[in-house]
Amino acid sequence: MAESIIEMDKTRIGAEIYALMERLYPICRSITGPGVRETLTLLSAVHPIKQTEIPTGTPVFDWEIPKEWSIRDAYIKVGGTRIVDFKSHNLHVLNYSAPFSGTMSLAELEPHLHSLPDQPDLIPYRTSYYAERWGFCLPHRQRQALDPNATYDVLVDSTLEDGALTLGEIYLPGASTDEILISTHTCHPSLCNDNLSGLGIAVHLAAAIAARSRRLSYRFVFVPGTIGSLAWLAANEATVSRIKAGLVITGLGDEAPFTYKKSRRGDALIDRAAAHVLKTDGTPHKVIDYYPYGYDERQYCSPGFNLGVGRLSRNVHGTFPQYHTSADNLSFVKPAALTQAYETIAAILNVAEHERSVLSLNPKGEPRLGKRGLYRQVAGQANAPTDEYALLWVLAYADGAHSLLTIAEKADMPFTRIKAAAERLQAVDLVRDCAT
Ligand code: ZN
Repeated sequence: MAESIIEMDKTRIGAEIYALMERLYPICRSITGPGVRETLTLLSAVHPIKQTEIPTGTPVFDWEIPKEWSIRDAYIKVGGTRIVDFKSHNLHVLNYSAPFSGTMSLAELEPHLHSLPDQPDLIPYRTSYYAERWGFCLPHRQRQALDPNATYDVLVDSTLEDGALTLGEIYLPGASTDEILISTHTCHPSLCNDNLSGLGIAVHLAAAIAARSRRLSYRFVFVPGTIGSLAWLAANEATVSRIKAGLVITGLGDEAPFTYKKSRRGDALIDRAAAHVLKTDGTPHKVIDYYPYGYDERQYCSPGFNLGVGRLSRNVHGTFPQYHTSADNLSFVKPAALTQAYETIAAILNVAEHERSVLSLNPKGEPRLGKRGLYRQVAGQANAPTDEYALLWVLAYADGAHSLLTIAEKADMPFTRIKAAAERLQAVDLVRDCAT
């Protein structure tokens, strides 16, 4: 009970997540299709992920499950030579492109090209999920050099047909049916920070939590952005009230400080736990209020659900130059950043796991700690192992109305210190657990 729910080898975890990202990086993912399944299968080597298929056309709230997309090849050729080649980088194809084959002039090809004039050497990541079209993404420098008099052979060897959308899920039952939700998106192709970082961290956290006994139940969902979380919510509407805290995780492998985005509620358990851990860890970070764009927190926090789900990232989407470009690659993410993110999320989950209130069994005046071996024997000792300050904070608020997190906030001490103090007091019958 005194231990963390997650034991980790700090020297290894970031490197393991990074190695997993290296294997996932080449796969062409989208909101539907074999790339998502292959990704979930690869992740399942760390901890088994249950895959559920939701058929095309299934209504999910105001939306419906789209067609399934598969792609085998795509290129633009000039004189028999591939000048833009899906096989060299899957960002080259407009994600979810409809099939197409044809020969055309540059003027006819131009409306189907996407590039970044301000970042002329990068390939942009572009999608067209809800309007059926085809296209290619390429460095702006290359686009500008295209010969206006050449003939372009274009192929998009893809299929858009009735199939299914794939949801991935790990459920780890605990003593209580109260749940923690971790959600991360599976739909991005060869992009590392957004979001192989979230996938790798989530599956490793699941494996670590699965190996421990736990009070709460933990649910990890691996879903394509927006439509996937909507589909998951539609399929689980009857039981989502069990979610006591949740976190969307993405963009955690770069070296920027953490950004925690609060749930729409703003004062949910996850909001307090995340803010507390980030503050007491002493790492530079920002805590920001909820806003209605971003990732799947938009669905979990929508008024009809209003779940206490926040989001942890480092750089915020859209605000860093590598965002949604070929520069969000394996050199942009660092094992040490992944380790730190993993540890931070583990610490946040640890707060939720152990959050409770205690009641003093000796509430009239301070109890004598010395006779119970809880007070340092020699005055002036630094770092007294009994940590009497934490003991005094817990005793002062052991009225059943103040939780351990509330006490940690008041004391401005790490939750783990307050939790350890409560356990020491419990061991000598000075406090008892309250039903929270
Ligand atoms: Zn993205």
